[in-house]
Amino acid sequence: MDSFREASAADETLDPPDWTEVGALTHRIVDDAITYLKDVRERPAWREMPADVRSFFSAPLPRSPAPVAEVYDDVARNLMPYPMGNIHPRFWSWYMGSSNFTGALGDFLAAIQGSNLGGGNHAASLMDSQVVNWMKEMVGFPASASGTLVSGGSMANIIGLTVARNVKAGVDVRERGVGAMPKPLRYYASDQVHSCHRKAVEALGLGNRALRRIPTDAGLRIDIAALKAAIAEDRETGFMPACVIGTAGTVNTGAVDDLQALASVAAEEDLWFHVDGCIGALIAIAPENRSLVAGIEQADSIALDPHKWLHAPFEAGCALVRDASQHRNTFAVTPEYLKSTPRGLASGEWLHDYGLQTSRGFRALKIWMALREHGVEKFGRLIDQNIAQARHLTRLIGAEPALELMAPTTINIVSFRHRLDGASEEKLKAFNTEIMLRLQEEGIAALSDTTVQGRHCLRVAIANHRTRRDDLDLLVAEMLRLGREIAATATLM
Ligand SMILES: *Cc1c(COP(=O)(O)O)cnc(C)c1O
Repeated sequence: MDSFREASAADETLDPPDWTEVGALTHRIVDDAITYLKDVRERPAWREMPADVRSFFSAPLPRSPAPVAEVYDDVARNLMPYPMGNIHPRFWSWYMGSSNFTGALGDFLAAIQGSNLGGGNHAASLMDSQVVNWMKEMVGFPASASGTLVSGGSMANIIGLTVARNVKAGVDVRERGVGAMPKPLRYYASDQVHSCHRKAVEALGLGNRALRRIPTDAGLRIDIAALKAAIAEDRETGFMPACVIGTAGTVNTGAVDDLQALASVAAEEDLWFHVDGCIGALIAIAPENRSLVAGIEQADSIALDPHKWLHAPFEAGCALVRDASQHRNTFAVTPEYLKSTPRGLASGEWLHDYGLQTSRGFRALKIWMALREHGVEKFGRLIDQNIAQARHLTRLIGAEPALELMAPTTINIVSFRHRLDGASEEKLKAFNTEIMLRLQEEGIAALSDTTVQGRHCLRVAIANHRTRRDDLDLLVAEMLRLGREIAATATLM
């Protein structure tokens, strides 16, 4: 017994020697965090890192200890002042949410509890399933559907497309692989489809060519007649049409495919109907705009992204599958070390049976806490608000002769550019790129750019609960100022 006690005294742990001291530091960190978010509007939308900050991140592997207060000072000095910027009210690059404080508390508490959401009989498991149930309800899926929280929309799409492959393969593809399929499968999506679908079909062993890109109409929505023609052609030439992917909100311009028409095509042609709703699935909770995504509830699977329009801190995606047994049959494996027991910790459901991960983070808590605090209706109103803001910006562009709208605004994404008299497409691209970079470097706003129907344009994607209309007024004024300055000074123009 004595020797046991001696050995225990010598055992190391990661717990702090003095919890009181850590408590004081933690309170300071929380106070700093509150100030950080409270004052976000006063800081630049983005700023370049100075050389000493860059070199800080090449410090060698630490071998000896440092007081945690010193560790936090390093973080406060070198990391926190240089965020990506998506928490800022004038961040509209690419497409992402703007996080929220309650969600951050959820992430903190999830890490404190430390639970592994691979499954088991504990409260976090029940909460994980509850949040999936709430997501089903939000998009109008039946209670019998299944789902899983994943890292983001890309993984959620991979889950849906994998179930589609296994259901439509014509062989036991889990056992025999894609090489045993009687015919090569074909998936269909518009030419605006997100790049994660290419990664998905490649990872599924189907190959990039298995994903047929169907042309889009003037509104950048999938052309239904062209889709039907492609399916017929594939049947004639020895392919097996398997899955149609509808996009509810394309990342380029926010176009929403006609989901009801796609549901009909899928039913007539006996195809799996997957909806990439990473941007737009949650429009289903927005009272003024929900009709835009009518038909989503008919999908066989849906990918959606709580870290976009629910503003969950990264990462949080969600895959939903109408037929729970098809979902489970695609992923479930029970090795001998993960057998269930009639009672106790291992008597709960194995949540890892619905995806590729074994260990899973506790993503549900940050979503659950923010939904519980605000209620789903407020999130719906915030979605409507962002769409109304995008329409406001579209009107400002329409009223300003120096600016030009480049694609129709359907939801919260506005594609446009600054005009430059007599300039070639190439010069227009250089000119607009320079405007975009100066907006970033001067800390005014973060925009990104893309190419729509062969023409370069700037892009404002407002998935941001901190944006106000006057932020968009400011953007237009600053773009006009920069346009004048650049046109007057830059020789390359
Ligand atoms: C964002 C997005 C994705 C990918 O989602 P991640 O969360 O970034 O992995 C897929 N499809 C669309 C339409 C998106 O906007």
